[in-house]
Amino acid sequence: QDDQFKKVVSHAKEYGYIFQSSEIYDGLSAVYDYAQNGVELKKNIRDYWWKAMVQMHENIVGIDAAILMHPTTWKASGHVDAFNDPLIDNKDSKKRYRADVLVEDYCAKIESKIEKEVKKAAKRFGDAFNKEEFLSTNGRVLGYQEKINSILSRLGKSLENEDLADVKALIEELEIADPMTGSKNWTEVKQFNLMFGTKLGASADTAMDLYLRPETAQGIFVNFLNVQKTGRMKIPFGIAQTGKAFRNEIVARQFIFRQREFEQMEMQFFVKPGTQQEWYEQWKENRMKWHLSLGMGEDNYRFHDHEKLAHYADAAADIEFKFPFGFKELEGIHSRTDFDLSQHEEFSGKKLQYFDHESKESYVPYVVETSIGLDRMFLAVFSNSLINETLEDGSERVVLRLPAVLAPTKAAVLPLIKRDGLPEIARKIVDDLKFDFNVIYDEKDAVGRRYRRQDAAGTPFCITVDHDTLEDNMVTIRHRDTMEQQRVKIEDVRGIINKEVDM
Ligand code: ATP
Repeated sequence: QDDQFKKVVSHAKEYGYIFQSSEIYDGLSAVYDYAQNGVELKKNIRDYWWKAMVQMHENIVGIDAAILMHPTTWKASGHVDAFNDPLIDNKDSKKRYRADVLVEDYCAKIESKIEKEVKKAAKRFGDAFNKEEFLSTNGRVLGYQEKINSILSRLGKSLENEDLADVKALIEELEIADPMTGSKNWTEVKQFNLMFGTKLGASADTAMDLYLRPETAQGIFVNFLNVQKTGRMKIPFGIAQTGKAFRNEIVARQFIFRQREFEQMEMQFFVKPGTQQEWYEQWKENRMKWHLSLGMGEDNYRFHDHEKLAHYADAAADIEFKFPFGFKELEGIHSRTDFDLSQHEEFSGKKLQYFDHESKESYVPYVVETSIGLDRMFLAVFSNSLINETLEDGSERVVLRLPAVLAPTKAAVLPLIKRDGLPEIARKIVDDLKFDFNVIYDEKDAVGRRYRRQDAAGTPFCITVDHDTLEDNMVTIRHRDTMEQQRVKIEDVRGIINKEVDM
């Protein structure tokens, strides 16, 4: 697992997808730059989301709100008072950790023991093995599961009640050690706000404390009535937005999975109070379908329904994805009640109500939200696509099987050799296709090596011009995943590629 993850990180750099931010200054931790191919993949994921959410829904529109907002926004939303992580320091190593993550990692270790038991039993029982039954009857597994449940439920309760002393007590009772040094000498647990602060204005007296937004959602809530009125939107309707968000994350690890600056793709769906449960279920289903439409394997996704709900929610679930380091949250679907709009009404003194012309009543709508991290989606797509294949002749190839709709470059056009007029024909094909999608021209090295380079970069098609092309106006199209080659007329190339890459 670790190995696969290391490969993902180094491949992302080697093929121009992701660089460490400010690398020449030794980088800035948990901040990354998207490189020449990364920016295209990221844009394609964003477009794929936007098309599914906005273009395909008559009743969903987009906005692009500013990153800086009036500071009272974050009072109203609860972020100033409650957007905290519980932190604990190790007195010997002076390293700082998220207390809840230390406990969760401890539980993950117990969970891996369960997995080991399952593997052992599967081997022992062969075809007769029934996993569900094993999990619900095996004494040792049940013991582990019970332990995990009791630890997590205690952690949840202590955090909810702000009982930080009990979180520390739990860490001590479980004898959790500093993962780097093994020391068990801990400080008290303290709350730490995740918002980045900044100042507006130059003079020290009049400067105003601002925050970089920690989520895009609030830009949608404060604009709810503007959009509803100017767009003459009728409930139910949605507002979508993609954009940067900032969080001063302490456990900043796992590459772009958890960054300090990242991008969200969020949609807030405004509904009539009382109908939220129905819409919540519908959006859960709808979002899962979106994921599955990329063809990255049903087994890589699962729902995780939250039992412990945030104070503003009446239902919440995550769509989890199987990252190289295990199943983790990729997207959240939350039924947020009227919490946000009511809070903004209270703090701004402005009414944020919807007038229903049919029933002649006014009300504050309820909200069902879908919220996905663009960078996390990028990591899901990228890590799932990177494959080391052993071919029939025993040789190996590295292939990045990105879904063709998302691939940065759709086709590479390759003249077999650098003379006899082949480069000119190849250039002409590039010039014809570049209006429709990203294509590149490559004439360096033997054609086999060029194919491998494009495989590793994730390009779904290679188009090769050879001497026969001079006679028959046909080229060879090579498909990245199957490595099949097809002889086709030059004029048919666009259609063949379009069929695969059109969103
Ligand atoms: P986590 O529990 O992993 O910290 P969260 O529950 O705080 O995530 P939300 O506030 O629900 O996340 O944000 C919605 C989505 O934004 C998440 O599902 C995730 O995809 C993305 N996201 C949140 N924090 C980060 C981050 N630091 N880096 C990258 N993506 C993030």
